[in-house]
This record gives sequence, structure tokens and C-alpha cells, in this order.
Amino acid sequence: MSAPTYDLGTLHGGLRLPGNKAESTRQAIIEVPLPSQLVLPITQHVGDPAQPVVGIGERVLKGQLLAEPDGTLGAPVHASSSGKVVAIEPWPVSRRHGENAPCIIIECDGKDEAIQRADPPVNFTTLLPEDLLTIILRGGIVGLGGAVFPTAQKLMQARTCTIDHLILNGVECESYISCDDLLMRECTGEIISGAQILMHALQINLCFIAVESDKPEAIRALGEVLGEIQDDRIALKMVPTIYPSGGEDQLVQLVTNLEVPSGGLPSDVGCLVQNVGTAAAIHDWVIGNEPLISRVTTITGDGVASPINVRARIGTTIGDVIELAGGYTDRADQLIIGGPMTGKSVTTDRVPLVKATNCVLVSSHTPSSSPTLPCIRCGDCAAVCPIQLLPQQLYWYACADDEDRMREFGLIDCIECGCCDLVCPSHIPLTADFRVAKGRIRELADEKARAVRARQRFEARNDRLQRELIEREKELTQQKELAQKAGPSAIAEILKRKKAQREEDE
Ligand code: SF4
Ligand code: SF4
Repeated sequence: MSAPTYDLGTLHGGLRLPGNKAESTRQAIIEVPLPSQLVLPITQHVGDPAQPVVGIGERVLKGQLLAEPDGTLGAPVHASSSGKVVAIEPWPVSRRHGENAPCIIIECDGKDEAIQRADPPVNFTTLLPEDLLTIILRGGIVGLGGAVFPTAQKLMQARTCTIDHLILNGVECESYISCDDLLMRECTGEIISGAQILMHALQINLCFIAVESDKPEAIRALGEVLGEIQDDRIALKMVPTIYPSGGEDQLVQLVTNLEVPSGGLPSDVGCLVQNVGTAAAIHDWVIGNEPLISRVTTITGDGVASPINVRARIGTTIGDVIELAGGYTDRADQLIIGGPMTGKSVTTDRVPLVKATNCVLVSSHTPSSSPTLPCIRCGDCAAVCPIQLLPQQLYWYACADDEDRMREFGLIDCIECGCCDLVCPSHIPLTADFRVAKGRIRELADEKARAVRARQRFEARNDRLQRELIEREKELTQQKELAQKAGPSAIAEILKRKKAQREEDE
């Protein structure tokens, strides 16, 4: 195994945030006991909701398919333990707009009885890449870094391009989150095995495992396993501890010095990025026979008694895992799913832990009550923007709802990292405004597409009516000519037939 490379690459802007990770990394990952109830949303991925294939009252086994993808983009949902389906109903979930979403609710029987897999695991190296992708699709694997893009479809898209680098993302740049760090220390072999499966699926021979320079234990664990297996195709790469170096495009730039084009994908520059947790989940399914029914999550913040990392079944409620972390302290003010920069606050701990939940942050910090002041054009927001956007200009155009200017100034490339908010001396909620503006741009694009479709339908109808009119006129002329040849009695007969036809039509 080659030693980790220290060529740290460059990243524009970004911020050095306080880590706040020591508290949750003091002990090993703790297994959350099986809860009495599991709440499984049918949408835990980017794409269309999965459709339930089980009914209320049905007994299900651990790993059994509960909902299957419907549409071109989606992922199946599996039972995280055995029990009875007691309801399929809306339940509070963590979403951008905080609404309820349909969930399959299982009353666990405590037996944790697993389903027999129809196709037992085989040596993946003997499989054709497309067969391997079909297997990955069936495992319900999605990007566990938070994006939850269905992994099989991401790989399928990548196979249509020329890919030469697989990058495993072990960069956990947001404060408080440490689940990938612990996973890299404790499930190192699974992550590297997942990398080998991914390389076979992509038919490539180069993989970088990118880790931040402040994770010596993870780097040591990965180095040891790589030394043992002697797979020269895989190398470690250290990246600087700067937020947001773990963003896909930023990581591609740091690892390869290649820039993902505006509006493009890492595959445009020959890269495919997968989170280290996703690689481990692929190993667990392809080799270990277990679909994505659990994940490692950080439970942290000064609002919990003992910050920890846990492995919990998907569908366990947040309240259950917080109890395992010693419960709430009297400083618990807000509950955030995700990190402090990109997380979403929720108002209840009945929310289930889902495939996307990398962190539950219970914090005493209340949102800033500082009043928003006018922009003083200091330029600090532009200096920290990792995409090299001009947030102050974007803010004006967002306020003016000037879609053309927002596009021109690259709003659609904003990764909503929150760096500009953090440095703005006027406390302008730039990221929140950009999120709304991006939604508005998408809405306007949808409206335009709908208008184009309506115009096309209108023009097609007009063309059809025009053609019918010409046909009718032609037919009438022919009939007139025939009638003139046949004489008055034939004309009377034709008129009679026409009248009967009209009455019948009416
Ligand atoms: S940081 Fe705030 S005050 Fe400074 S230019 Fe940007 S928006 Fe204006
Ligand atoms: S939120 Fe958007 S505009 Fe602000 S710093 Fe991040 S990428 Fe740049």
C-alpha cells in the first residue's frame, strides 16, 4: 500500500469551523437495542416514493421488501426487523418543509427473524457489471452522506460516461458529525471491500479514499487494512480540514485538481464519488446479505447527556436513540437532524431515523436574534464562497425575483453550504433566501415547460382542425360535382342523407 498522499489541493473560500467532535468519538459505536416500533417512510431517497407491497396486519421478516421503487429513480425500503405491519399512515418526518409523510409502521416482535434471500450472495468478481448493479439496486442502497441519491442509478449513469477515478468520501467537514470517522475506524474492511465491489461495477482500477487530515485514527486503520490486502488500486488521500471540503465537487477538485463544470456532475471529469458509509452498506448487502436496514449516526450536542455514535435500525425514532445517549440535558433547546450548517430542525423526537440521518444534534443554541441589517458591501460572503459566487449580488436579484440575473450569476450552482451566512456582519439570511429563490427558479422552469407543452397541444389541435376543414371542403366539392352530373333528384337524395347525418351527429 502506498503511503497517504499529502498533496492537499486547493479549495476556494470555505471556513475552518470548530470541530466539536471529541465528545462523540470517545467511545466505540454503540448498537441501539431493537425498538418496540419501527417507522419507515416510503420516501428515503431522491426520486419517486416507493410503493408499499405489504398490507396492514401482515407479518414481515427482517430484510423483507416493504415498498418497491415506482418510476425511473428510486430505491426499495426493507423491514429493519421482524414484526407486524400495524399501519401505513402519515407520520412526522425530517424534511425541508417539515411536513408529515406516508410511513409503514411495524410493531416489532422482538425475534428479529431474517428473511431467506432468494439469490444467495456469490463471488461478485464473477458477475457482469450490469448484474451487479441490479443486485445493488435491490439492496435499497442510497448515498449515506446525506444526498440519498439511489446508488445503483448513480452507477448506471456513470457507466454511460468515461470514469477513471472512484473517490470514497470520508471527509466529514461539518462540525459535530463523526459517524464516518467512527465507521472508518471500526468497519475499515467493509469500506475497502465496498470500494472493490464499486470498482468492479464500474470496471475501473483506481480508487482514492479521501479523509480529512484531522482524523489520524481513521487514517491509521485504513492504512493498516490496505497494507494487509495489498490492493494497489486503492490509495489514501488526505484533504484539508476546511468546510465544505466534503462537498462532491469540492472533493473532486481537492483530490484530482479537476473542476466539475457549472451545472455538471463529477462524471463529466471522469470521477464518481461515494460516501464511505455507502461503500460499507454495499459490502453488507452484496457480501453480507443484509439490505440497507441500519446505519451509524452521531447523537450529539450539549442538549444530550453523553454524545455517542450509534448503529440504529432504520425506522427507530429519534427519541429512542437520544435516550441511549443519556437523554436530554436542561440545555436542550432545539433538535436538528444533520449538522449545524445544513441540518433541518424538527419539532418532535417522534421523527424516525432514516437512511439520510447522519447526525442528531440537540443544541442549546437558539437561532440568532440579531436583527437583519442592510448589506454594507464588505465582500466577506464572496471571499468564503467555495463556488466563487457573488452572494451579495445574488441576494439583490433574489429580492427582486430577477430570474435571468440569478441564473446568469450562477445561483443554481449554490450548494447551500451556509458559509456566506456565517460571515455576514449584517446577519442577512443569505442561504435561506437562496434556497427559496432556487425553488422559485425550478417552479418557473416547470411553469415554462408546462406552457410550452400547452402551446404544442394547442398548435397540434389547430393543425388537426385545419386538416379536417380542408378534407371536408374537398369532399363537398366532389359531392357537388357528382350531384350536378346526376341531376336534381340525386341532389335531393344527397341533401336528405346529409340532414340525417347531421341529426345523428347531434
Ligand atoms: S457579507 Fe453581508 S454585508 Fe458583506 S457583502 Fe455579503 S451580504 Fe453584504
Ligand atoms: S450558501 Fe451558496 S452562495 Fe453562500 S457560500 Fe455557500 S455556495 Fe456560496
